[in-house]
Amino acid sequence: MDILAHGLWGGAAFGWKRKYGWAFLFGMLPDLSAFGPYFVYRILSGTLKFGKPEIASIPSAVFIAYNFSHSLFTAAAVLLLVRFAISKELFISACAYPLHILCDIPTHDKTFFPTPFLFPVSDFRVNGISWGNKYFMLINYAALLTAYFIYFRYKAKEKVRENLSGGQIIFPAGREQ
Ligand SMILES: [Zn+2]
Repeated sequence: MDILAHGLWGGAAFGWKRKYGWAFLFGMLPDLSAFGPYFVYRILSGTLKFGKPEIASIPSAVFIAYNFSHSLFTAAAVLLLVRFAISKELFISACAYPLHILCDIPTHDKTFFPTPFLFPVSDFRVNGISWGNKYFMLINYAALLTAYFIYFRYKAKEKVRENLSGGQIIFPAGREQ
């Protein structure tokens, strides 16, 4: 899946209640950590071109980084690290990281970065439908639009509820405290 859609799905799934920005970032992190440094290098060296890069032109370091960042074992390590060493509060947002990998498994075909989700234990990869397929793109962004429509409706209703209660929790009749 493309990196923007990963961020949007991560945010919608694990940032809808709070810390949206973190969930968005964790949703993009597997791709950011694999392609980010190479992307910056191509910008700085003036060799960045639009469109799908030639596989042969991508340095091996990117494939190594991709193997690590798209492994469910790395995802488990990221979750444990966040939960026990960084911040309990960020744990839910960090769940967008394994979601990224799960979304990638069926949306990459064998010709372009099939997901090494069991690396380094197994090299098994699924030959899925490429996320670059225009029908997939359309369906994916239509689904995102629907998800965000629900998300913003929920947020608007929550705001109205907060305004009505003046920031206080309203207890149902008969249960005032
Ligand atoms: Zn990815």
